[in-house]
Amino acid sequence: MENVTENITVEQIKDAVKEHDIRVWKLRGCSICLIPLTYSFNGDDPTYDSNCDCVSYSTEPEPRSWESIAEIFNMQTPAIRMYMWNEFLAAGSK
Ligand SMILES: [Zn+2]
Repeated sequence: MENVTENITVEQIKDAVKEHDIRVWKLRGCSICLIPLTYSFNGDDPTYDSNCDCVSYSTEPEPRSWESIAEIFNMQTPAIRMYMWNEFLAAGSK
């Protein structure tokens, strides 16, 4: 388990995506239908997909900045951030 006590940087995320071959990262499910929302890393910028239309009218994947991915980690308490970071790394195929 990687110990993460500092804020996660965009560079760390980009490196992890490459190093661990992370393509899809599943996050907590929709509060209504429980389908997990996902972030995909298949090109230049990450893509957000709610995978359902309970709360948004659009079901199309939307581009997200790398900074916004870092924010997801850095808005957490250190313990949860570390847990999420290790889940993120485990989402990769390497
Ligand atoms: Zn839903």
